[in-house]
Amino acid sequence: MILRMSSLFLRTLREDPADAEVPSHKLLVRAGYIRRTAPGMYTWLPLGLRVLRNVEKIVREEMDAIGAQELVFPALLPREPYEATGRWTEYGPNLFRLKDRKGADMLLGPTHEEMFTLAVKDLYSSYKDLPLSIYQIQNKYRDEARPRAGVLRGREFVMKDSYSFDVDQAGLQASYDLHRKAYIRIFDRLGFDYVIVQAMSGAMGGSASEEFLAVAENGEDTFVRSPGGYAANVEAVVVPQSPPVDASAVPAAEVVDTPDTPTIDTLVETLNAKHPRTDGRQWTAADTLKNVLVTLVHPDGTREPLAIGVPGDRAIDEKRLGAQVEPAEVVAFDDAEFAKNPALARGYIGPGALGKDSESGIRYLLDPRVAEGSAWVTGANKTGFHVINLVHGRDFTADGTIQAAEVHDGDEAPDGSGPLQSARGIEMGHIFQLGQKYAEALDLKVLDQNGKLVTVTMGSYGVGVTRAVAAIAEGNHDELGLIWPREITPADVHLVATGKETEVFAKAAELATELESRGLTVLYDDREKVSPGVKFKDAELLGIPTIAVVGKGLADGTIEVKDRRSGDRTDVAVTEVVDKLV
Ligand code: ATP
Ligand code: MG
Ligand code: MG
Ligand code: MG
Repeated sequence: MILRMSSLFLRTLREDPADAEVPSHKLLVRAGYIRRTAPGMYTWLPLGLRVLRNVEKIVREEMDAIGAQELVFPALLPREPYEATGRWTEYGPNLFRLKDRKGADMLLGPTHEEMFTLAVKDLYSSYKDLPLSIYQIQNKYRDEARPRAGVLRGREFVMKDSYSFDVDQAGLQASYDLHRKAYIRIFDRLGFDYVIVQAMSGAMGGSASEEFLAVAENGEDTFVRSPGGYAANVEAVVVPQSPPVDASAVPAAEVVDTPDTPTIDTLVETLNAKHPRTDGRQWTAADTLKNVLVTLVHPDGTREPLAIGVPGDRAIDEKRLGAQVEPAEVVAFDDAEFAKNPALARGYIGPGALGKDSESGIRYLLDPRVAEGSAWVTGANKTGFHVINLVHGRDFTADGTIQAAEVHDGDEAPDGSGPLQSARGIEMGHIFQLGQKYAEALDLKVLDQNGKLVTVTMGSYGVGVTRAVAAIAEGNHDELGLIWPREITPADVHLVATGKETEVFAKAAELATELESRGLTVLYDDREKVSPGVKFKDAELLGIPTIAVVGKGLADGTIEVKDRRSGDRTDVAVTEVVDKLV
């Protein structure tokens, strides 16, 4: 195939789009691969679509290789199945809901467990029909709170979702293992530097759910790993547990009052006066605010205990002052709730926030449950200390001793496989042992060997196909532009004809045809009246892995071949160039 730049539906941009923050977003838009249509919604232009199709091809080949069968459901779905599983409500504002002309509720599918379950129920009835894995590559819809970074987090995006159906747990494990292997092949072929991390807490069993994260500074997920092979999303790390706290054994809150408008200094003063540390040292601002659980007292007298944090954190500002609230990071609980469930505290606050909040008249009180001088995190590396997901009973014992807080760099991995190191990643794939949740809700049963009805056991497995394009771009670019890995590049060779001479264009056209006949896709820059400088800039930006320049050298019988990634250039004899390029 030959794509001629003179007629290709493509316009490259010199400037970064104003809304773009990460390199992949900037470059994919500038290079004319994608174009924003509305927030979180993108049009795939011809070159971008070729990359997307190449990613799909790899995913499809590897799914087919494990015997999964492709089908496709509508994206527009009726409410009832999602009502039956509770997801019509549970999905919250992320679900796109709409009505048809008769007023019936509909949705745009965010993921299709319900529909697959019903399809299998419709067609299958016996254990002999199983195991079964079916999949689709389809547009999904999620009204994400923060669509981000171009197609990295879209509101419409392409996902490969597959589902496995088995009669029992052993079958599910086998289907899961097959998918896991397929995913390893997919992400290897896509050229990712990735890690497979535990994605669920221990309650569901260690391998019930795993994520494939592409290692990337701009990733939204944080994971930890140890030299001994432990790897988990921080959300899923199981920190060593102290015995569960008996809520009735938690000492009654002995409230330590601070002055009406506390500052960090007055808080520290109060601490030293009324809650001396047991190790004899004095509290300092940094100590207290790192390690003390405080209770917010609102002007109306209601008390709101909060977990603790690093100096400089923004949680209180965000929560109180409304800017950039990260709801997952601050969850307040009151005393009654605490008594019912000690595992509630989650969040962090800091001194900057204290200052601001004191302006609004909110007072801070120390909560003596953890305010004893022993409220230190044992074994944690204090520098860079960051407390999230604090859990009473796990992180504190009833007498207020902190056992373990969240994960920190340098902490020992839960399986003893060495010190943990954290890094950021992009969730590219997620494999999940669903068990019988959906089959139960939608009554998917088959007859087993003894003629007894058994509920089917399911797995669900997703790959972010459009996200993969962005993530690959994120990991494969330099300051000049994109650099596609060969398996997914939109063309094999970017052939540039420079100058004005007809012989140059004739030779380049001949070369393009020859390369095409040898099975290559050629992006041929046949534009007349476009300067070599502009053509070279475009070639760097577009990122085709090999650039061949037919120009000045032709007089000496050579064509310049450049490797986009290494920048290496070689003059190759015209007679040898086709063999060199295929
Ligand atoms: P995230 O944590 O990034 O929101 P998720 O856990 O909600 O993703 P899953 O429900 O596990 O996503 O969906 C399977 C895959 O679909 C994800 O691993 C990811 O690669 C992709 N994906 C999910 N949401 C989006 C999105 N908004 N835009 C692009 N790809 C997405
Ligand atoms: Mg999500
Ligand atoms: Mg996720
Ligand atoms: Mg997920």
